Amino acid sequence: MNAAGTSQTRVFVAGHRGMVGSALVRKLSAAGHVDLLLRRRDQLDLTRQSDVEHFFAEQKIDQVYLAAATVGGILANDQYPADFIRDNLQIQVNVLEAARQAGVDRLLLLGSSCIYPRNAPQPMTEESLLTGVLELTNEPYAVAKIAGIKMCESYRRQYGCDFRSIMPTNLYGPNDNFDLETSHVLPALLRRFHDATADNASEVVVWGSGKPRREFLHVDDMADACLVLIGMNQQEFWDEVPVRNSQVNVGTGEDIAIADLAAMIARIVGFQGEIRFDPSKPDGTPRKLLDVSRIHSMGWKARIGLHEGIEQTYQWMLDSMDDVTVNQEKPET
Ligand code: GDP
Repeated sequence: MNAAGTSQTRVFVAGHRGMVGSALVRKLSAAGHVDLLLRRRDQLDLTRQSDVEHFFAEQKIDQVYLAAATVGGILANDQYPADFIRDNLQIQVNVLEAARQAGVDRLLLLGSSCIYPRNAPQPMTEESLLTGVLELTNEPYAVAKIAGIKMCESYRRQYGCDFRSIMPTNLYGPNDNFDLETSHVLPALLRRFHDATADNASEVVVWGSGKPRREFLHVDDMADACLVLIGMNQQEFWDEVPVRNSQVNVGTGEDIAIADLAAMIARIVGFQGEIRFDPSKPDGTPRKLLDVSRIHSMGWKARIGLHEGIEQTYQWMLDSMDDVTVNQEKPET
């Protein structure tokens, strides 16, 4: 029996129009037995405390996936630092506090691997959180997400709330942001190589030196990991994680140099020209590979290979070119 007195679990996916939120909706709908509660930003602005509290008080919510966030690539983080820290802090504070007041059974906060120190030993374990200086290009966003993790831990300690957190590596997949300025590297390169091929251009410019290494996880794998984590009962979950640094890393366990990623995308898109690197653009952190032993010991492993995942995402991009063009202005919440 759930909070509303029916046998279905009432699940609120905050941020259901984003890349991760929409993948969660696909996965939850396919799994069945859930009563999905979704609100667009014009229906519920998560940065407004009283609206959020009112919403939670009215709806009898059992579980929350907090996938709503202001996110973006290396340049967007640099251009909109105030938006990144303010929006993410506000959303987290409002949703967690409203969930506590309403007695939500379980909540999963989604973060990012940029919470770890710039020079953390690789692969980065959960224990490396707050052991060193953050990467400057996304420090405001990272500080907000670290605050989210610490809120989950504090709410558990003080109020006994079952608030968990999950930190994915760089994600990609359907509904990603394909804007050339504000997006992350993988969708940006898919679009740039696609446009260059369509225009018969002789070269494609890739930002930075091409040397940084990144790990990429398909968003469907991420959604799968979220369902596994939230599905674990209290005892099972909290036995697996420490009280401090309780966040769970999610990734494939493998990384790739940006230059090799660019070459792979060029092959998938069919681009025949030259690839040129632009060192005037920032490289960001040199390497970002997650240690995924914690989630492996919980019985979850990534399934979608990078090549296969990029091919599928490219197909999605082609199928939805019109929508992609509309969605290009600012980082998405
Ligand atoms: P990060 O993982 O937080 O650094 O985020 P990004 O996905 O934005 O960038 C990853 C790496 O890819 C950085 O070294 C970028 O300089 C590099 N990169 C190369 N070309 C691009 C591009 O067109 N867009 C973005 N966002 N990054 C690019």
